[in-house]
Amino acid sequence: MISIFALTQIEYAEAIQNRLGRGKMYAKKMYTEWFKTGKIDAEASWIEPQAKDLVKEIIANTYFFEAPISFVQEEGGVRKFLLKYADGLEAESVIIPMKFGFTLCLSSQVGCRMGCAFCETGKMGLLRSLTVEEILFQLFAAQFILGAPIRNIVFMGMGEPFDNYEAVMQAIKVMTCSAGLCLGWSKITVSTSGRVNEIIRFTKEAHPNLHLAVSLNAPNDLVRSKIMPVNNTWDLASLKEAMLNYCNHPKRRILIEYVLLEDRNDSIEAAEEVASYLEGLRVTINLIPYNAQRRGRFAAPSLEKINQFRHHLQKRGYNTLLRITHGSSIMAACGQLGNKKVLKTCLRKQDEIV
Ligand code: SF4
Repeated sequence: MISIFALTQIEYAEAIQNRLGRGKMYAKKMYTEWFKTGKIDAEASWIEPQAKDLVKEIIANTYFFEAPISFVQEEGGVRKFLLKYADGLEAESVIIPMKFGFTLCLSSQVGCRMGCAFCETGKMGLLRSLTVEEILFQLFAAQFILGAPIRNIVFMGMGEPFDNYEAVMQAIKVMTCSAGLCLGWSKITVSTSGRVNEIIRFTKEAHPNLHLAVSLNAPNDLVRSKIMPVNNTWDLASLKEAMLNYCNHPKRRILIEYVLLEDRNDSIEAAEEVASYLEGLRVTINLIPYNAQRRGRFAAPSLEKINQFRHHLQKRGYNTLLRITHGSSIMAACGQLGNKKVLKTCLRKQDEIV
């Protein structure tokens, strides 16, 4: 079977032609119909009567991936939903309303092996990476099942996208296919915890308009290594070198994500260190106050401290965004996904695997 969710229009039409020895033109039309309307009708009026059998044959040779939505929760316009895959695992996605249309926060894995100390998903460990179909279907479900016209995509849900590099990049190719979902490259952001090897690869291979976000979250190696184990493999110096290389392209700018943790990384001195570290890079700094779900190691700073931190960065000439999260009580804050239901399923699955 040829998987329509995993291929661009050309790839899909060629795969159909190779399999059936014909049908390329109708496969192309079908592809567009599927991704523009979310359905296929072999009896549709655009299919000439003599081509109906061919279209039925194309449909019979196509794999339309499906996963049921097992949970939807809404708060303040933000909708979180879970898709349940054939093996029982679930991944979550979040639909965030914007001025025009919606942003979709996507997962690239179930769980995550990067182990960031402040992150709910990190506590699960990695269960597995998602396939191209499973990544794409999150967008399809948001758009055609939940009826949200998606304008922007951020890979900031469960998982480290660069830990599933090929599937994520192929999914982006499909999302941007002009004969299908037709999202602009500049509407998509891939976020990494700092996998330097893959930032280097992304710099070489990715479309220049595709955005990169890097989770910094600390002013120096000492603090970062304590809260982000990735820093033990790729320290801030190597991360900076990779980001400088990335910024060599005049169109490229990096979104720096910084989760503010009370008394860990939120002082004026920390802001000064961050400002010095980022010198020479084209960046926007996205400040995200920690979204505490339960009493634990971390807390969010006071609004006063958050503002002081922000003002210091602004004084040093940086563009900053401050995300007082929409939907914080449904755990829709980026980098902090991982609700109790998913956590339970994951722990159960881990037991089964062990
Ligand atoms: S913050 Fe991102 S990279 Fe770190 S554990 Fe969570 S999902 Fe993984």
